[in-house]
Amino acid sequence: MFTFTNMRKIEHIGIAVKDLDESNLLYSKLFNVDGPYKTEEVKSEHVMTSFFRAGTSKIELVQGTNETNAISKFIDKRGEGLHHIAFDVPDIKAEMARLKAEGFILLNEEPKRGADNKWVCFVHPKSTNGVLIELCQEIENA
Ligand code: ZN
Repeated sequence: MFTFTNMRKIEHIGIAVKDLDESNLLYSKLFNVDGPYKTEEVKSEHVMTSFFRAGTSKIELVQGTNETNAISKFIDKRGEGLHHIAFDVPDIKAEMARLKAEGFILLNEEPKRGADNKWVCFVHPKSTNGVLIELCQEIENA
C-alpha cells in the first residue's frame, strides 16, 4: 500500500572517505566540476561532509573528524566506500513510526539534524541486509 509517508526517491548516496580534501579533488574530476557545491560539518556526528551533483542525483562524501565517529569506525572495519543510501520522505516521524512497527531497527528515536538542511534518521544495516539506510526530510524554513 502506498501512502503519503513513503520514501519517494533516493535523496543521495553517502560514501565514507579518509581524506575529504583528496576525495573532493577526485570527485571533482569524476564529475568534471570545480568542486563540491557544498561542504558542511555536522558537529553532533563528528563528521565533515561535501556534496556533488550528477544531474539530479547527489553524492555525499563523509569523513570523520575525531577518533570515535561512526565513519572512521566503518572505514577501519570495511575500508572506504559506499556507506549509506538516503531516501527522501515527506514526513520523517510518520515513516520512522511505520518502520519501527514493521520491526526495523532505528538508530535514533527522534529525527536528528543532519547535513544539507535535513532531518535525518538511520536504519540499522542489521535489519536491511547490510545496507545503512538514511531517511531525510527537508527542514522547512520558518
Ligand atoms: Zn547522508
